[in-house]
Amino acid sequence: LICRYNSTSVAVEEPITPPVSVKHTQLLINGQFVDAASGKTFPTLDPRTGEVIAHVAEGDVEDVNRAVSAARKAFDEGPWPRMTAYERSKIILRFADLLEQHTDEIAALETWDNGKPYEQAAKTEIPMTVRLFRYYAGWADKIHGLTVPADGPYHVQTLHEPIGVAGQIIPWNFPMLMFSWKVGPALACGNTVVIKTAEQTPLSAVYAAKLFHEAGLPDGVLNVVSGFGPTAGAALASHMEVDKLAFTGSTDTGKIVLELASKSNLKPVTLELGGKSAFIVCEDADVDQAVELSHSAVFFNQGQCCCAGSRTFVHEHVYNEFVEKARARAMNRSVGDPFKVGIEQGPQVDSDQFEKILRCIRSGVESGAILETGGDRFGSNGYYIQPTVFSNVQDDMSIAREEIFGPVQSILKFKDLDEVIKRANNSRYGLAAGIFTHNLDTANTLSRALKVGTVWINCYDVFDAAVPFGGYKMSGNGREKGIYSLNNYLQVKAVVTALKNPSWL
Ligand code: NAD
Repeated sequence: LICRYNSTSVAVEEPITPPVSVKHTQLLINGQFVDAASGKTFPTLDPRTGEVIAHVAEGDVEDVNRAVSAARKAFDEGPWPRMTAYERSKIILRFADLLEQHTDEIAALETWDNGKPYEQAAKTEIPMTVRLFRYYAGWADKIHGLTVPADGPYHVQTLHEPIGVAGQIIPWNFPMLMFSWKVGPALACGNTVVIKTAEQTPLSAVYAAKLFHEAGLPDGVLNVVSGFGPTAGAALASHMEVDKLAFTGSTDTGKIVLELASKSNLKPVTLELGGKSAFIVCEDADVDQAVELSHSAVFFNQGQCCCAGSRTFVHEHVYNEFVEKARARAMNRSVGDPFKVGIEQGPQVDSDQFEKILRCIRSGVESGAILETGGDRFGSNGYYIQPTVFSNVQDDMSIAREEIFGPVQSILKFKDLDEVIKRANNSRYGLAAGIFTHNLDTANTLSRALKVGTVWINCYDVFDAAVPFGGYKMSGNGREKGIYSLNNYLQVKAVVTALKNPSWL
């Protein structure tokens, strides 16, 4: 059943019929499914073929206004911020149970809409989403302020209060995981939410939000608006009644939403943006292991990961062996219909990404990098791209500087640690890095010197719910996941009470 990629392109067979039907295509506002106020819809496409899966409500300014009003009312007057934290936690846990029970359907929606391998969605991403919600359900009743000593006859305490209405904008590469990173902490802290899904992948989040209501979430607490960025997204970012904005997407769009937020009501903004992460293979590395890890660091999710290890720096002593093995591994990657068992790589999400990646590959060839394998579309239907490996990549080539967001590995040679630290840090991004070495001193030096939000040592893409994630430099600001994300959704209020009897300070 598995279609191994090799240098001669293989035709992709007839697509498998997805084992799911599309139930929800409307906006979910105030607990109700509604059409867009304009009545407009947009098609969401199957990346395996480019065919329409469903027509989805196209939310715009008026719909965002309706959703924010519902969230505002639910926050200002509704039970969610007023119920005990334990009650909130039980609802989130019930939702996590429902999500787990519906893993197969949600994973199938993810695969159909996005093109990611079904096994990856069902065995990794949906379970991680469930885990994330359980993790934040656990936090709900452990959020509290402090008692603070003061220089005088005062009792001082801090209250950690929900911030209000959270506006959230998510991308298409991990629709359910991004939904969980945003919604989990916001709801655990007692906020209400309006989330705008990505126009390429609107199907799974609205399905999950419906389950949340079945779990007992009050109306208006979680509102889902599908639609486009410059319309629905911009309306959310600039809304005066949105108290906090959380955004994941490209660095260019991050700049736009930051400006919209500052020009409206100065709402605080967290940004999770792009990356060009370095994967550093030191001379003492076990080359076979390093090849396998660097392969998955780049090619996982069709290369559509913000933290893809897309600059593979390899020490000169192991470089030739590494390049040969990396090429062989890429040629052995199983590419094909993502619903098939054993498939490692499906199609890219849409024709825009597909064309952009092919342009990046052409630029790599033109700039003199050596194309070891791949370099073209895979098959003749849909948005599949051959796993591509370049060697002899130089720092100034655009394939070493710009985010490709596709299945393209760029291998660069280095001589010593000081050199690789400088070169790895020579990027406008600073999201993540991988280090492959058994030398403790090398690992410590690199992990402290690299200007990135996450360092993985002898591993990559480990996304534990408790571990914070976010970027230095133009990869964003703020952290999501773990205890750090709670701060994004809380206000701190200082309450200072004069003491009647100062002799008992
Ligand atoms: P994008 O910035 O085009 O879109 C992301 C979201 O922003 C979508 O929902 C989109 O509709 C919305 N949007 C677009 N224009 C907008 C506007 N003017 N106002 C408000 N919202 C707008 O990015 P993309 O192509 O969908 O996603 C790929 C990018 O996201 C990559 O650069 C990747 O690195 C980044 N990403 C980062 C992380 C992270 O955690 N750091 C995670 C996933 C993706």
